[in-house]
Formats: sequence, structure tokens, C-alpha cells
Amino acid sequence: MEKIIIIKYGELSTKKDNINFFLKKLKENILFSLKDLDVEVTYDLGRMFIHAMNHFDEVISRIKNIFGIHEISIGYTIDSTDFNCIKEEILKLLKEKEFITFKVESKRSNKKLDTTSIELSKNLGAYILKNIRNLKVDVKNPEIVVNVEYRLHNTLVYFDKIKGSGGYPVGTLGKGLLMLSGGIDSPVAGYLAMKRGVKIEAIYFESPPHTSIEAKNKVKRLAQKLAVYNNDIVLHVVNFTLIQEAIYKNIPHEYLITIMRRMMYRISAILASKRNAKILINGESIGQVASQTLTSMSAINEVVNIPVIRPLACFDKLDIIDIAKKIDTYETSILPFEDCCTIFVPKHPVINPNIGKCHEYEELIPFKDLIYEAVKTHEVIKIQAHEEDKAFKDLL
Ligand code: ATP
Ligand code: MG
Repeated sequence: MEKIIIIKYGELSTKKDNINFFLKKLKENILFSLKDLDVEVTYDLGRMFIHAMNHFDEVISRIKNIFGIHEISIGYTIDSTDFNCIKEEILKLLKEKEFITFKVESKRSNKKLDTTSIELSKNLGAYILKNIRNLKVDVKNPEIVVNVEYRLHNTLVYFDKIKGSGGYPVGTLGKGLLMLSGGIDSPVAGYLAMKRGVKIEAIYFESPPHTSIEAKNKVKRLAQKLAVYNNDIVLHVVNFTLIQEAIYKNIPHEYLITIMRRMMYRISAILASKRNAKILINGESIGQVASQTLTSMSAINEVVNIPVIRPLACFDKLDIIDIAKKIDTYETSILPFEDCCTIFVPKHPVINPNIGKCHEYEELIPFKDLIYEAVKTHEVIKIQAHEEDKAFKDLL
């Protein structure tokens, strides 16, 4: 009998044709997150297993963040399909536990067995009652559920079930580029995209000296929080100062944000194509600010062909905040450092920008050269999930 971590991959089991691709990725992601621990990962017959030696608690706390996992149990494999032998082993396990009420749940993945799951549960239940005194069966609210899975070559037993993160393994749906600001919304948008199996890289626009090093460190810190779900994360930092100053000096102020965001989209699309990212992801939410009315969104979106995914498009702010708290980005997001949008915000931004005017105003600045320069000089930072970085530790 081996103590083992058992993983159920729920939604994945519906991906019949490319299940092996999904499972390989899931295994790879699990191994990556446990790379400093001595573990082995195997899978067969609808279950994945982590042979974890004695790091069980640490392994569980890490794999809770891995998408594609539906449920986790610490259990045992019994190397036998013989019912008498199985009964004995389960009895041994139960004798070490303190409880009065229990029930047995059986699952047969070995369809050759001629006994039904219900009969198997009844037989085992009766055997337990006979061999351990003073126990009672309670099917509604038992203290212990004895889960037994009868498989082709062995048998699984487990007593507890821990909820996993769900979703698809990160990377199975390709790559996306997340427009990551220091706000509350964009990290949540990134989280939701990763949950659908999209591996992300992030892009951040900074405008030194108008924006501070603390603002950049805050974004690095947010990227690190997201890296937990993404294996690690590549952060592209684009210097936006010259573009922003050119817009500020030359373009009517009510169009500042619209034109600025058109520039951000253009640069993001170029970097996405260079990095083989198939979509842009951002934290826009319909109606949240002037640049997120439907007219604004379409005037901004007009400059790129790449699909722009907005996971929060229809979310209320309070619901977004709930997720931000759950994934532990909220406290970092509300730190007070200004990002480039907040500094250049005009008093009366246009709510229904006119696309013709956008084109006209953009003629006033050499934006193609500025974009070329910004892309060419951008900084690439690789951020690891558990890396210690004094700069952003000091932030909190
Ligand atoms: P908040 O939570 O305050 O709304 P926000 O980051 O969502 O913060 P918005 O002005 O609503 O700020 O911006 C909409 C989206 O545009 C962001 O969610 C983000 O995806 C992208 N964005 C804004 N500013 C930047 C930036 N400096 N760098 C990268 N992406 C940005
Ligand atoms: Mg927002």
C-alpha cells in the first residue's frame, strides 16, 4: 500500500480527442510547480497521481493553484484487485482513525467486475461494521466517507476531497499577451484567462519620470502573484514617455486617453505577434470609465486585428474586487503609486470618440517612429513565482 496524492481532472475528461495533450501539459505544470521537491507524477485510467514521499502538505498547497485540477485527495493505492485483500487493507487504515459514523462510496473503473458498485459498498460496509466495534452507517452526514475505486490492476482508497482550481491546464490553449497595469482589474483579467488554459505574458507601459519606480515594482509584484498560475511570467516593460508627451503636447485633451490607448493597443499587437501570442487580454469592463463605453472601445479596438479578450467586460466592480482578494492581488493593486493613465487623465475625456477625428489627430504626431522606438527599446523581465525580490518585498 502506498500513500499517494490522487488528482481528478473534471472538465478535462470531456476533451476526448486530445486528452493526452491536456494530460501531458497538466503533468508538466505540476512538475514545474514542484520542481524543488522530490516527487514523481504518473497517470492512468482517469486519474493523475503524485508520488510525494513526505511533502504532502506542501504539494497540496501548491497544486491547489494549478488549473485543470478538479479535485485532490490524499489516499492510498492497494496493489490488488482481490476483494478480501482490499477489505483487510481498508480495515487497517480505518483502525487508525477515530470516528463513529461512516459510509462507503464505490466506483468501478474495472468493468470486468460482476458486482455492482452498490453491492461492493454494502459488502465492505458490513465487513467494517463486523470488525470494528460501535460504528454506525450514516449515508447523509457521516464523519468519514470511505471512497474506494476498483480499477483494472489496483484499488484506490481515500477519505477526504479537496477542491481544485478547475479550468484547463495553462498552455493548452496557447499564449496571450495581458495588458497589465497596476490597477485592480487587469490582474483579475489575467487570472481568468489563465484559468481557460491560456499561458500569459504581460505588457506594462511606464512613463518615467512621470511614473515612479514604485509603480513599476508594483506591477512586477502583481506579475509575480500571477506567475503562481502560469509557471513563470515574462513581463515586457515599454517606455511610453515620448509617446505620451507627444500626445499631451499636440492633441486636444479630450482625446488624450483615446489616442493613448490606441497607441497601447498598437504596441501590444506588435509584441504579441513577435511573441507568438494569439490574443490580447485586458481588464476593460463595459461602462467603467469614459474609455470603456462601447463607442470608445470600438474606436480603440479599430487599430488592431488581433482578437482582444476582455474577461471582465460584463463584471461589476465589486465582483472583480472579490476575485482580486481571493487571488491576493487586491492589497498590491490598491497601493497608491500612479500609473501612466492616471497622470495624464484629462478633465473631460470624450465619451463617444469619433474615429475620423482619431485619424486626424494622430497625423499630428510621428507615431509610427515613436512606436518603432518603444518596441525596439522595451525591457524584458522574467519573473518567477517564488523568487525573492527585495525591491517589491519592500512595497508592502
Ligand atoms: P482599475 O482597476 O483602476 O480600473 P485598470 O488597470 O483597469 O485599473 P483602466 O484605466 O480601467 O485601469 O484600464 C483598462 C485596461 O487597460 C486595464 O485593465 C489594462 O488591461 C490596460 N492598461 C491600462 N493602463 C495600462 C498600462 N499602463 N500598462 C498596461 N496596460 C494598461
Ligand atoms: Mg479598469
